[in-house]
Amino acid sequence: MKTEQKPDYMVIAESVMFNADWKQALDILTASLRSFFLFDNMALYLKENDQINLVDVVYARAMGRGKSAEADVDWGLEVAMSVLESGNTLIKKPGSATPRDQRISFPYFLGLPLRTPNGIIGVLVFVRFGGPTYTQEQVADARFLAAQFASMFERKQLYEQVAALQDARRQIGLQEDFIATISHELRTPLGFIKGYTTTLLRPDTKWDDATRNEFLTIIDEEADHLTSLIDHMLESARLQSKTLVMNFQPVRLDALLRDSVLRIQARYKDLKVTSDAGASPVVVMADSVRLTQVFHNLFSNAAKYAPGSPVHVHVSQHEDFQRIEFIDEGPGIAPEHLGYIFDKFYRVPGYGTSGSGLGLFICGQIVKAHHGVLSVKSEVGKGTTFIIDLPLNYPG
Ligand code: ADP
Repeated sequence: MKTEQKPDYMVIAESVMFNADWKQALDILTASLRSFFLFDNMALYLKENDQINLVDVVYARAMGRGKSAEADVDWGLEVAMSVLESGNTLIKKPGSATPRDQRISFPYFLGLPLRTPNGIIGVLVFVRFGGPTYTQEQVADARFLAAQFASMFERKQLYEQVAALQDARRQIGLQEDFIATISHELRTPLGFIKGYTTTLLRPDTKWDDATRNEFLTIIDEEADHLTSLIDHMLESARLQSKTLVMNFQPVRLDALLRDSVLRIQARYKDLKVTSDAGASPVVVMADSVRLTQVFHNLFSNAAKYAPGSPVHVHVSQHEDFQRIEFIDEGPGIAPEHLGYIFDKFYRVPGYGTSGSGLGLFICGQIVKAHHGVLSVKSEVGKGTTFIIDLPLNYPG
């Protein structure tokens, strides 16, 4: 094996420093490696809960050898384990001289620990079949490379920890908001119910029929509101613990949509809905009750958050999925909120309308249980479109 060029330390360091995508950085590092350090195979092992896992195997067939060994991704595991145990660089040579025609059975291993201030996080292993062994200079270069890998993975772990922390913090914030919202939300209808009931029961006053009816209607509506709030909370808890059972059956989409439209128009008398679902009737595998619930939620949201706007339901068939779009011409949702509206408890600030921030989360989970996708497009001042994509070939 001839002596190779010196490594381009700058290229290596920069690719580690500036590449946010660690796989890409790994590709660059491996490519630059080949100009100064020849090997048949290279593998990276990372430690995880004191176990060692192969994270990525980067094969560089520099010499066109070792093809059969490539099939076995565990080839460097033993060396990796020894390096992890000793904490030192390890060169492992085959026992006897190398016959030229059987190079594959004579591997020369080089194992290097990936060291960070918090200890060894993994091992980098090279193999050359049939030698030659590694020179001191090559070992020094490989150490430099291992240090780069180590800092890259340390950075990756740090990024992941920061992202997890941010996520946890956001969840806690949402939960706290939710408790504040939900106690307010539960108290408001209860307050109405209690207030009007007490009024009606006052022994010193006699109410005429019209007033009594009006009060009872309010009590009735508020009780419904309370029920739906509690249902939402229970349902999202069930969805989260995966105890919600789906009952899949072939369902006529146009019929399901027609029913939903009738129901929503009974509730929101002024809501204008147009639909082209009847033009091309399709059958999808669905839980009709759950899917109706999604439609109902999207219609109610349009009525609540895009008041006065018509809603158009557009149905289109694609190669392997069925698309159902709910298009409104309301105020839209600002881009900074759009990414969060399917999150549990998330409500766009500034809307006084009652709600729990659970509706779209539940819809998303139901569509997901149908192996579909719920997404949204929105433009402030123009309107919002919710898109349900359901697979056509899902067996149910
Ligand atoms: P909520 O119980 O608050 O209605 P959802 O999860 O159903 O909760 O919706 C989340 C948020 O998304 C709502 O608070 C609202 O701000 C926004 N939103 C939902 N649908 C629309 C729509 N059609 N137009 C504008 N904003 C919407």
